[in-house]
Amino acid sequence: MKYHIWTEGCQMNVADSQRVASALEHLGYAATPQADEADVIVLNTCVVRQSAENKAYGRLNSIKPLKERKPGLVINLMGCLVGVRSHDALKKRFPYVDVFSPPSDPGPLLAFLSQGEVRELEESATAVRYGIMDEDLVLPAAEKGSLVSGYIPIVYGCSHACTFCIIPYKRGIERSRPPEDILSEARAMARQGLKEITLLGQIVDRYGKDQADYPSLAGLLIRMQEIEGLERIRFLTSHPNWMTDELLETVAALPKVMPHIEVPVQAGDDEVLTNMHRGYTVEQYARLVERIRARIPDVSIATDIIVGFPGETEDQFMGTYRLLEELKLDVAHLARYSTRPGTVATRRMVDNVSEAEKMRRFRLLEDLQEKLVTEINARYLGRKVSVLFEEKVKQRWKGRTPTNKLVFVESEDDLQGKVLPVQINWTGPWSMIGQIEQN
Ligand code: SF4
Repeated sequence: MKYHIWTEGCQMNVADSQRVASALEHLGYAATPQADEADVIVLNTCVVRQSAENKAYGRLNSIKPLKERKPGLVINLMGCLVGVRSHDALKKRFPYVDVFSPPSDPGPLLAFLSQGEVRELEESATAVRYGIMDEDLVLPAAEKGSLVSGYIPIVYGCSHACTFCIIPYKRGIERSRPPEDILSEARAMARQGLKEITLLGQIVDRYGKDQADYPSLAGLLIRMQEIEGLERIRFLTSHPNWMTDELLETVAALPKVMPHIEVPVQAGDDEVLTNMHRGYTVEQYARLVERIRARIPDVSIATDIIVGFPGETEDQFMGTYRLLEELKLDVAHLARYSTRPGTVATRRMVDNVSEAEKMRRFRLLEDLQEKLVTEINARYLGRKVSVLFEEKVKQRWKGRTPTNKLVFVESEDDLQGKVLPVQINWTGPWSMIGQIEQN
């Protein structure tokens, strides 16, 4: 019996798909890259933008003939398209889908496949959510021995309710996972050869704040540091309001925790930030960047920015442009505002920036960021950095620095999973080239 998983969207979905694959392999299924060979097809979907949602519909339509040819085929629709609320409308529209699973929850599929056995577990949401998929994560066969980095979700959902964001509607309220489950999953991953783990949450720096007896993210990192075999730990995405000094100092003090912070600003204008319901000002974000840089030596910082939010004027956009120019951050993930049904921005605001204007603003920031990051990366020229190698791509080994910069080197040796010193001798905006230092 074979399974096929199609994944769209963020790292959380990548991690969720990995857990579904692991659970299916526990039930005796083997992976296939061909949907038409599969007995079970899982579509793990994303709706953060309309284009992502359209891709999911396209995929659903394309597998319909497979179900017609092979009625025993099990089709599982999972992720943000399904969400945590009622999915009756989807059931009506796609009657050939057998199972609907909310994000991060393989329970309904496992219950469907193994009938009575797992159905009992399904009655306990905790057992399904945390038990089946987390406790004893075994990497899917295709990834065993080949995966260097993995993801572990530590906080599900989000209770912040930024006005543009659909996540709280789709992934439910914030729920931190028990630290023991996270640690046992991390140990299992390290035992299976993974060198790097990235802890995930929509607001990862709020880890533990919804549970009285859980540690903070800093406390969790201290315990992760002890895991044998694990070389690198990362976490994303942080919210500016929860980046405490305790967390920053812990990142600086723990050698396995990498000096890389992902903390979205979203806009460089106070009125837009208020309309987005972000909960901080431009000035406060700029001070946070100072604080991060003062406490973590040689840190790299990534941000997210949305252009063309409802009502964003040219002046307000230029505020974002100037902020980016002033802060000189290592990465800016840029997005054009996309209206999402059900969000406050869609219900109460007018999407009045034209698509052409959104694109113009996007391109301006893209060009600026390319110039800035070219300068930032040029500082690496001639420096020695430690690189964790992931895979060979077209004759060159690809790896990452502690600051998450992409590095390529030529080597005939097998470098997978090794951390080696590399002398950087070329830098560009998106990657660097170097040579392994011989000791
Ligand atoms: S913090 Fe805001 S943008 Fe991030 S997931 Fe929560 S609601 Fe969405």
